Amino acid sequence: MVDRTETESRKLLGRLRDAMAGDEAGQERLNKITHLIATSMGCEVCSIYLFRDAETLELCATEGLNEEAVHETRMKMGEGLVGRVARRRSVINTPDAPQSPGFRYMPETGEEIYSSFLGVPVQRLGEALGVLVVQSKIAREFSADEVYALEVVAMVLAEMTELGAFVGEGAAMSARHQQPILLRGTVGQEGVAEGHVWLHEARVVVSNPIADDPERETERLTEAVDELRVSVDQMMTMASADKEQKQVLETYRMFANSKGWMRRMVEDIQSGLSAEAAVEKEQSLARARMSQSTDSYLRERLSDLDDLSNRLLRILTGQGSDTGAEMPPDPILVARNIGPAELLDYGRNLKGIVLEQGSVGSHAAIVARALAIPLVVHAGRITNDALNGDHIMVDGEQGIVHLRPDDTVASAFRDKIAMQAAAQARYASILDLPAQAKCGSVVALHMNAGLMADLPSLQGSGAEGVGLFRTELQFLVRNQMPKRSELSALYARVLDAAGGKRVVFRTLDIGSDKVLPYMKPNDEPNPALGWRAIRVGLDKPGVMRMQLQALIRAANGRPLTVMFPFVAQFEEFRAAKLEMDKTLSREARLGHVLPASVEVGAMLETPSLAFAPRKFFEEVEFLSIGGNDLKQFFFAADRENERVRRRYDTLNVSFLTFLENIVDRCAETQTPVSFCGEDAGRPVEALCFAAIGLRTLSMRPASIGPVKSLLRRCDLNEVRDIINNARDRGEMSVRADVVDYVKAQHQT
Ligand code: PEP
Ligand code: MG
Repeated sequence: MVDRTETESRKLLGRLRDAMAGDEAGQERLNKITHLIATSMGCEVCSIYLFRDAETLELCATEGLNEEAVHETRMKMGEGLVGRVARRRSVINTPDAPQSPGFRYMPETGEEIYSSFLGVPVQRLGEALGVLVVQSKIAREFSADEVYALEVVAMVLAEMTELGAFVGEGAAMSARHQQPILLRGTVGQEGVAEGHVWLHEARVVVSNPIADDPERETERLTEAVDELRVSVDQMMTMASADKEQKQVLETYRMFANSKGWMRRMVEDIQSGLSAEAAVEKEQSLARARMSQSTDSYLRERLSDLDDLSNRLLRILTGQGSDTGAEMPPDPILVARNIGPAELLDYGRNLKGIVLEQGSVGSHAAIVARALAIPLVVHAGRITNDALNGDHIMVDGEQGIVHLRPDDTVASAFRDKIAMQAAAQARYASILDLPAQAKCGSVVALHMNAGLMADLPSLQGSGAEGVGLFRTELQFLVRNQMPKRSELSALYARVLDAAGGKRVVFRTLDIGSDKVLPYMKPNDEPNPALGWRAIRVGLDKPGVMRMQLQALIRAANGRPLTVMFPFVAQFEEFRAAKLEMDKTLSREARLGHVLPASVEVGAMLETPSLAFAPRKFFEEVEFLSIGGNDLKQFFFAADRENERVRRRYDTLNVSFLTFLENIVDRCAETQTPVSFCGEDAGRPVEALCFAAIGLRTLSMRPASIGPVKSLLRRCDLNEVRDIINNARDRGEMSVRADVVDYVKAQHQT
């Protein structure tokens, strides 16, 4: 029986291939295909429904239903039996369609006279493209062999759809990859960009889904799987001792040696598919299961299988990660996810980045921010929708992506870019002027950095220095702990590039969201409140000492400024400062040149430090308020949690009052204080901080222009009065009043 079905399905596929070989328009091809399928399967009806857009299926060709219904009959995902096949991505096989749950009568098709219904999803790599249906008058359930045969045909149809076989004069369907698409994601990094898609992992194109020499195809598959096994074994020997990585590779090895996987693919080949199409069919099934599974363990295993299938496809098609495609001159990187090191490899060449996954706090986002490249994360299924070279516009202000935008959208977007460019030109004109408010007060604006790539901005942005150099980025983007000599060389280059301007090096701030790939991860119930930053530094002082040595050697006689992160109490600062003193003595003993001066400060990121004894404020040489962390602890609202992270306004009166108390305590002891959280780069927030007495702000380089421009138009005494009045009136936030004031300044 199996043999008979295999021969039948091979014959059908052979005929399909012949049908495809002609140079008919898309519609004619589809008509021919429905005719072939209906005849081969002995059914009166065969219909092909394809997605018009993400939600709507359209009858694109039929044998047996009314011709007039073609391109007229449409249904939403989930609607009727066809819509249900698409939604569930699974087969519906029923002898009595009109009585089946979900059946929807569509008079224009004349289908009520057909009793049995078999619908299978047309999908490619788990992405629903349409539904293939056969129907007949006799009430019967289709056999397992028939279902399988139709699934194989659907698989080939999916490949043909992907290859654009049904696009053309007859308007069978508009090309899936030609329609404009709007995707809403989350802002990862502000800024707007227009360019062309560059897929981090190019789609594998299978141009030969049907093959008529199963022996040859099985041989090709076996050879490719052998090659895959060898490469997995090689990865195993090269892998570091990391347990998790080993586990993943073990799973790979298990799949690569799995008899079930191989057997299913060989069966698919016997029924007429090429080796590539057989791999894809299995991959599609795994992806469909992945999207429906709620079991995280199973999802992970299926995703391993997905990765492995990709590798196998690349071996079979000879399309490595280098597919020969050329990167466009204005590339916008599109990826499911990307690691920080890979992103750094692309560097500033990218005009924008769009990720399907990722998170605002991910390392990739940190790098994108450091490079000031607009980034949108959680952008739907962009890796399925986009093709290399597609026109794309990224709105990092709103978290919106326009793929293949139509002319109206494109011109509106360009207006937005032009407005930004005009604003940039305005900022450039005040580059050399101080951030002096109308009342005469001057605010020092510094920049945050973390990569060598940031340093050129020091000149271009008008920053007075680097107020926060996040040293952990250098640790995060490597696969192993950097050596002291490497770090020292890098810090020296940073100081060289700064050309005498002050650089505040923050010692390693790891833990919480920043997990080093080569350190054992700690399974902590609440990592943001866990073993992180200075807590790690003091408990395991080896790394901290190594970093301090690297900094001292990098300074090589120049002034050095160091700041410890996440200090929660005076004793922690004292202990860290002691490490610094000891390291200085050791370095002197070893004959290294000591810095001309050493300033040691702390970040104020926990509310507790605001209430430290006066002695702490006297001893610490400067403080920098890490508003990102301080705010999350003040309001008990996780900065990584989308549901709560925007719930409390930075300009909330309670928070401003708290900041003001810190400023006052620093004033009593004349301790220099600055603010270096993200809020410092938001003009209205920066204005309020300056008004309550913060006279040094450190921010992303791109924010310096907008902040300076606003400060220069405002009077800090007036803003201070507005804040005090709002407080007296018992307002929750001062934002509305300050924004009104700012608008009035724009008009004058
Ligand atoms: C902060 O917490 O405000 C800060 C600047 O540090 P990070 O964002 O690196 O935690
Ligand atoms: Mg912090």
